[in-house]
Amino acid sequence: MARYTGPVCRLCRAEQKKLLLKGGRCRSDKCPINRKRPAPGKDPKARPGKRSDYGIQLREKQKLKRIYGMQEKQFSLFFERALRMSGITGENLFVLLERRLDNVVYRLRFAVSRSQARQIVLHGHVAVNGKRVNVPSYLVRPDDVVEIGESGKGLVVIKDALKEYGRSGIMPWLSLDPDTMKGKFLANPRRSDVTDLGDIKEQMIIELYSK
Ligand code: SF4
Repeated sequence: MARYTGPVCRLCRAEQKKLLLKGGRCRSDKCPINRKRPAPGKDPKARPGKRSDYGIQLREKQKLKRIYGMQEKQFSLFFERALRMSGITGENLFVLLERRLDNVVYRLRFAVSRSQARQIVLHGHVAVNGKRVNVPSYLVRPDDVVEIGESGKGLVVIKDALKEYGRSGIMPWLSLDPDTMKGKFLANPRRSDVTDLGDIKEQMIIELYSK
């Protein structure tokens, strides 16, 4: 299935939730969700209809998939992998999603959004343990060092992202040295550590894929 290339704010409006797909704009008053814009094609005065269980499960899956910028096939492969791992499937799914290299680059503040992080990885500006990796879905492991390579150190987008957010604190399972553009994935996060995704109900996603 082709990657979605339309206006990303539309995706947030469809879910009526901030999916944080656009960097600085997401944190500003210009965000359509902050402005209470209705879902696309919906009459703002219409009463919300009742959703089926399937509809609720589907929406939870779509939200998580869109937050991490993944396509359906890839997301379902991640889910299957989470299912095969020992432990709680929902927790495993979050660990796998957080270990994606594009996500780690975003979390380390080298990019203002996951889609920008994906481009930075695709263009070969990121190294893991000193080796260039240009695969956004590459899974980072605990103790891996993730850094911007020489080709990316002068890029304005990366410098701006670090300047804007680099000193505002990062997630507890990461460490960052903004001056050398080098970070470390200290440990796999727990679900309770992933606090910025709102009320995603992973159990609904498990029920959806279990049908
Ligand atoms: Fe657009 Fe970001 Fe707001 Fe989503 S959270 S609607 S991407 S500005």
